[in-house]
Amino acid sequence: MAEGNLKITKELAEKIRGHGAETYPHECCGALLGKDDGAREILGLFPLVNRRDDSPRNRFSVTAQDVLEAEKAGRQQGLDVVGWYHSHPDHPARPSQYDRDHAWPWYSYVIVSVAEGEPQDMTSWRLNDDREAFSPEVIDIQQGAAV
Ligand SMILES: [Zn+2]
Repeated sequence: MAEGNLKITKELAEKIRGHGAETYPHECCGALLGKDDGAREILGLFPLVNRRDDSPRNRFSVTAQDVLEAEKAGRQQGLDVVGWYHSHPDHPARPSQYDRDHAWPWYSYVIVSVAEGEPQDMTSWRLNDDREAFSPEVIDIQQGAAV
């Protein structure tokens, strides 16, 4: 599968990193709102509450209710849900087995690694159609004014 490209403004990228630092040592998660007309672009975020009470430190999951709320928030801004982001407290910014088991094809999955409360690497992934593996996606951070 060819590598995709994900455009995001510097401001939104910083917001994702900030959300990860805020919820540390727990995971943060949220929806990526934007457009995908050939090129995929993130134009807004919809932070979600991590509903996993049993292991909020390392178990990101999106519920059906989250999807509905995120899609509603997107519609109000004329945007689609094009992916999801979450943080990996004290773990590398690579999808876990759990992430793969709970991911859907097509969406972009942005992961930010947070070490000792400080945001580190940010990566993006798309699940292959056979759901066997993720392919990395290049994050193209747009400098300059936010939308
Ligand atoms: Zn994860």
